[in-house]
Amino acid sequence: MQDDNTLYGRWRETRLVGGHPALDFLNSVSDRVARAEAVDRLGSLADLADWARSAGLAVSPSLAAQVAKTTDKGDSVVTRARALREAAHASLTARVSGQSPPPNALALISDVAAQGMASGSLHWSQPNDTASLTLEKPDPTGLLGLIAWQILDALFRLPGERLRICPRCGWLFVDSTRGGRRRWCQMRTCGNREKAQRHRQAKSPASAQTKGT
Ligand SMILES: [Zn+2]
Repeated sequence: MQDDNTLYGRWRETRLVGGHPALDFLNSVSDRVARAEAVDRLGSLADLADWARSAGLAVSPSLAAQVAKTTDKGDSVVTRARALREAAHASLTARVSGQSPPPNALALISDVAAQGMASGSLHWSQPNDTASLTLEKPDPTGLLGLIAWQILDALFRLPGERLRICPRCGWLFVDSTRGGRRRWCQMRTCGNREKAQRHRQAKSPASAQTKGT
C-alpha cells in the first residue's frame, strides 16, 4: 500500500490533465515553451513506472514497483522512453496543426509497440466490448510497448479539432468542454500566470506609455 502512496505522490493529479495517457506522457516535461527552465520528470526507470501506474495504464502497483527495481538497464530504458515521448510529441503536434505525423516518428512508435508485443509481457484482454493490453511481467520493454500502444490510440482516435496546445507551457490536452473554448492546460497554473502577467503589464508605466502613444 505504501507503494501506491508513493506512486500517487510523484504524479499528482495536477500533472495528469491531458485527458489521455499519451498526452500526459508528453506532459512529463514541465515546460515545452521555456525549455531552458524545463524539468524532465522522466529522470529514472522508477519515474517511468510510477508515471504509468498513476496515469491509469494497466500496470499493477506491485509490477510497477518491480519494473522500477530493474535498474541494470535503467538508463537505456529512460533514453528509449524519452525518444518515444519526443516521437509522440512530433506526431501529435503535427495532428494539432492538421499535418501528417513525421514518418520516422511513426516508425519509432510502432517499433516500440511491436517490441512490447514481442516481449511476451503484454496480455490482450476484452472482458466486455472494449479491448485493452495489460502488463503481466515486470519487463521495461513491455512497459514501453504499453505506452506506445496508448500513443497509437491517441493518434488515431483523438479528435484533431479538440486537441490543444497550452500557449504558455506547451502541454497538450483534449478540450472536452462543451463549447470547445478551453485555452489553458490548467487555469490554476498557466491561466492564472497569464492573468497575473497581464495585470502587471497593465499597471507598469511602460505599458501606460505604450497605451498613450
Ligand atoms: Zn500550460
